[in-house]
Amino acid sequence: MTYWMHRIYHIPFLYRNFHKLHHKYKQPTAFSVTAIHPVEALHIQLMDTLPLFTIPTHWFPFYAVALYTYYHGIIDHSGVNFKAYWWQPWQPDAIFHDNHHQYFHMNFGFNIGYWDKLHGTYRRKDRVYTEDIFYGQGKRIDEVSAEELKADLEERESENPLAYRDNKMEFKLSDTELKAMKGTKK
Ligand SMILES: [Zn+2]
Ligand SMILES: [Zn+2]
Repeated sequence: MTYWMHRIYHIPFLYRNFHKLHHKYKQPTAFSVTAIHPVEALHIQLMDTLPLFTIPTHWFPFYAVALYTYYHGIIDHSGVNFKAYWWQPWQPDAIFHDNHHQYFHMNFGFNIGYWDKLHGTYRRKDRVYTEDIFYGQGKRIDEVSAEELKADLEERESENPLAYRDNKMEFKLSDTELKAMKGTKK
């Protein structure tokens, strides 16, 4: 549900009017967790708490989930080099949401990576993402203009290798890969 709530805020109208605020900083800080437009914040709070009035819930699991989410929310936005532990296979590494801030309309999940994989909105190496490319799919390398591609490659260069597993720049494109992707169509 959090996935869909966030994804809805990435449709052009809602994004420009409300959610853009949260994306103001490409490099988020711990304070970004709560740097949310009041309308969006209220909406999310309501959606998260309304079910409690219809479905009886024990206070413990509710607080456990709320605290877990908040804790990871802070980690995700702090630039802490967090990698998920073996016992939380559902939790993406912090770079997952850092990518969301840097490339905007993809990686919508927070604590569960599966939803993005399921909906095809997980970041793909062969796609270009900008603030103006909506709906989570990005654009194929052979669809973008030379300027868009150049800007995208510069963004990729600016990423911090330490945030990735084995310090491997997962999304860096080699010249051969780039050529192959440009050549896939036509
Ligand atoms: Zn967002
Ligand atoms: Zn964020």
